Amino acid sequence: MLPLLRGWRVGPAQLVRNIRHATHIGRAHRTFARGRRFGASLLIRDLGAAVNLNGYASTTAVSRRRRGVDWTVLVKLVGLVPSLLVGLMILVLAGSMIVGAIPQVPAWAGWVPFGLATVWFLLGFLWFAPFVQGFLARWFFQFREPVNAEQLHLDRSWHEVLRRAGLSGRGRYRLWVEDTDALNASAAGGNIVAVTRGALRYHGDHLGAVLAHELGHHLNGHTYPGLLAWWYSRPLAVVRYAVRVVLRVGLGIVRFISYLNVLVALFAYIFIGGTYLMVAFGVIRLILWAWEQSWVAMVVLALAVILGPVMNRQAEFRADRMAVSLGYGPALVEVFREWQSFGFDDQGGRRGLRALYLASHPPLHARIRRIEKQLPLRA
Ligand SMILES: [Zn+2]
Repeated sequence: MLPLLRGWRVGPAQLVRNIRHATHIGRAHRTFARGRRFGASLLIRDLGAAVNLNGYASTTAVSRRRRGVDWTVLVKLVGLVPSLLVGLMILVLAGSMIVGAIPQVPAWAGWVPFGLATVWFLLGFLWFAPFVQGFLARWFFQFREPVNAEQLHLDRSWHEVLRRAGLSGRGRYRLWVEDTDALNASAAGGNIVAVTRGALRYHGDHLGAVLAHELGHHLNGHTYPGLLAWWYSRPLAVVRYAVRVVLRVGLGIVRFISYLNVLVALFAYIFIGGTYLMVAFGVIRLILWAWEQSWVAMVVLALAVILGPVMNRQAEFRADRMAVSLGYGPALVEVFREWQSFGFDDQGGRRGLRALYLASHPPLHARIRRIEKQLPLRA
């Protein structure tokens, strides 16, 4: 799920933040400069629309935005490889243990663990299938369908967003409501666009700006890595959960049957220690093996993992840019300025480096600055 804003939770020390923002804005500026030099067609994917570079008003119909994946998505997908490998290893290990425990299995059963792992890998893509989206929205993200009045209200702005993106009449996306008074919106899965109940008080271009930002996430493929990361980290999560359950049950028994103290504690610790050791050894062997195969690939993977949170913030800038390219820049700035007045920005300066690194969203003032830099192009 990629909410429009989560900036107020995390924020940086002033100095580092300034360096970071200076870099970001510099990069955006260079991109635009390059666009001017080499012509608009090169930048269609980069800026969302060539029309904006040429300065045409986007309130008229524009060329249809294509769905794709941008570089932030590519980096994040590469960053998923380690957890994917660990997950595959756990499944093959678990499958082998199960097959090994069955007496007199036929020879082909040796492939079952690999089949299991392959199915699990492929199931990751299922989360974006159209027929799963309703389930995801309702049960996973806890969204609800808009009631009639809400649907009408949303549709008025949403249809205009789709029209400007050249996607009119395409029923691909589905709108949902998140039952909270917070002001936010999110894009998730294959076609889910959700607005909080609180954000329903926006209308016209302001609601359009919020929705266009979320459409930007979808059109740039930003929702893919999140769900895949969640799915591919499940095997490790299950191992950790099982360990925790055994620990809790073990300690619970210890409390009630005191004479079994030593035995149960021993069993629990052997199980926990054993499981962790097995996974840890597997991971170490995997790392050593991969390093032998190609240390360059390993460095690339490590970098991709480390850069993950940075990519999240870049993705926000890119979604904002989509809103700008659809003509919602000024409205989005107004929404952000209002949020700033509510104290949603990170001006507190109490947060540490870790929070700065992990922040899912750039601070509002940085986003506003970027948007305002992009606005003159549309004049
Ligand atoms: Zn966003």
